[in-house]
Amino acid sequence: MTTRDSQPAAIELVALTKRYGPGAAAVDTIDLHVEGGSYCCLLGPSGCGKSTTLRMIAGHESVTSGDILLAGKNITDLPAAARGTAMMFQSFALFPHLSAVDNVAFSLKMRGVARGERRARAQELLERVAMGHLAERKPGELSGGQQQRVALARALITRPRALLLDEPLSALDPFLRIQMRAELRRWQQELGLTFIHVTHSQEEAMALADRMVVMNHGAIEQVGTPWEIYNRPASEFVARFMGGHNIIDTGEGKVAVRCDRVQILADSSPRDATQASIPIVVTDVEYQGTHVLLGLQQQGKTLTTHATAEFSAMVPEAAFVDAPFNVGQPGVMQWRPEQAHRLAA
Ligand code: ADP
Repeated sequence: MTTRDSQPAAIELVALTKRYGPGAAAVDTIDLHVEGGSYCCLLGPSGCGKSTTLRMIAGHESVTSGDILLAGKNITDLPAAARGTAMMFQSFALFPHLSAVDNVAFSLKMRGVARGERRARAQELLERVAMGHLAERKPGELSGGQQQRVALARALITRPRALLLDEPLSALDPFLRIQMRAELRRWQQELGLTFIHVTHSQEEAMALADRMVVMNHGAIEQVGTPWEIYNRPASEFVARFMGGHNIIDTGEGKVAVRCDRVQILADSSPRDATQASIPIVVTDVEYQGTHVLLGLQQQGKTLTTHATAEFSAMVPEAAFVDAPFNVGQPGVMQWRPEQAHRLAA
């Protein structure tokens, strides 16, 4: 794909708010700048306002207050079809009774484009996503990857400047999901379009995004590169939501230490006084291949039934083989002070 139909457009949200009723706003005064041609993931738990934000950008949901700008132009009150955006939905949402080419041509039909012209344009787009030879097949006769390309061609037919993706991979099995996300990323780079992708999967967002936007209760908790979000979580919420971190109360505030950056020592091992430490008991031992995941409980604290372990340690397999641990074994969790990242109160 060498030619670009349009220049990638930046998207700007200014004090964007959505209220469905008298309660808390679903999206509460958010400000966000998405660079043109970048891959942005909106991430957060169910109900945090991701889809509402995306639907407002798409023009499928009215805005209570605030503005949406595309390439500097205010599109807040434009109808969906006039915005320069296009949506791609969960499991691609292709019409099962229509051929690939008719699926792609569908929105041109809605816009009153004559049959010959719309089929020609749809065929051309299918060629661009290497699906030209399968244009007459119905979705049920296509693989997951081929369906994704048809869905992409269908979204691109209106020549959008930004593509909005609402959980496009969530209905796929885990193996296909990983394949499809690599393909999405490749298409985004080749097309050079702005992508905004909603997901509740931390792993998916980290794999895809140039920038991640972590949302909570209708507000933005943190914006950053996947590296920044994972290594410098701004809050306890982000650290817990991303996972892979121990949240430790130091008495003067909380810190996050990555589970692969703590060391577990047997009680009998000599201590390193330059490191911070907590006495622990091992509560779970889970073999994960490259690592062994240890569940840990601070000594002297009783584990309530069904409680998940208080801390976790990812011990590389070879290190675990050299110094194995059993459930119930006491020890010490230690970490270098520079590994502790202070969390906002
Ligand atoms: P997410 O996509 O992060 O799961 P949503 O944007 O779908 O979250 O929803 C955010 C909040 O708005 C939730 O509390 C949800 O129940 C509420 N909500 C979403 N859509 C509607 C609607 N059409 N009417 C009333 N409340 C809604």
